[in-house]
Amino acid sequence: MSGQQDMAGVDIGGSGVRCAVVRDEKVGRIERSYLRSRSVSSVVEAVASVVPNSAVLVGVGVPGFVRQGRVLSSPNFPEWRDVALRERLEHRLGRPVQVLNDANAACVGAWRQRSERSVLMLTLGTGVGGGAIQNGVLQLGGRHTGSELGHIYVGGDAPCGCGSTGCLETWASTVGLMRAAEACGHPIVDGAALVDHVHNGERWALDVLSEANTALARGLVSLVNLYAPDVVLLAGGLAQPGLWDDACKTFAQRVIACNRCEIEVLGAADGLAIVGAAYWANQQVNS
Ligand SMILES: [Zn+2]
Repeated sequence: MSGQQDMAGVDIGGSGVRCAVVRDEKVGRIERSYLRSRSVSSVVEAVASVVPNSAVLVGVGVPGFVRQGRVLSSPNFPEWRDVALRERLEHRLGRPVQVLNDANAACVGAWRQRSERSVLMLTLGTGVGGGAIQNGVLQLGGRHTGSELGHIYVGGDAPCGCGSTGCLETWASTVGLMRAAEACGHPIVDGAALVDHVHNGERWALDVLSEANTALARGLVSLVNLYAPDVVLLAGGLAQPGLWDDACKTFAQRVIACNRCEIEVLGAADGLAIVGAAYWANQQVNS
């Protein structure tokens, strides 16, 4: 990152925003602000309340489909349609702002802290996000909306938040596990509840997890054969040791031998999107 200037990294979530200053690779304390509503102006004000005056540049990670600073749609902000978030924030903050998808930001943040040049990340949380970095460059495709790894088709007809069906997100996410548990007559409140049932050795829970593993294996084989990364990182609330061993095993058996790589389970890995957003903003401005 350039010089001694402060950059702010911001992570927008459904209930609040978090921000930290990034300076010379060091990340400051994370400040939080809660949203009064899910309107665009509420979010803009929440961001303005956490970004310090010292930051000359602001990178913002936001859940949803993002194209060149515009949020086309977002599962966390269902009312938003093609919102010019970068423009709104630049107007309010009076500084350059860059906006990218939050899982893409997390991927950049993880990549920045590692030595590999090409990294694939899947964030397994409420949904499935992801990012692909090839030789140091975040892959956004010709229309800037690529690297949506959670929405590759892996099978089944469960509806996805993106409007399609059978996406990886409909299986290997909290939403997916809840749907599958409900379908076999055992409604659960979140992913952690499924993990508890799995640890208790309950057959139905093991079956639900097994299906999710099959779906994740399909996703991993396709994605790794496409991108051939040096490593795959699993992050997020559901990225827990032991949960995805079957997927990793199937992946290793099915992926083309020359593309086989390590899959690392990072756990929640909170804060990666903040660092990644700041770094990516800096990269955009200086490229
Ligand atoms: Zn989808």
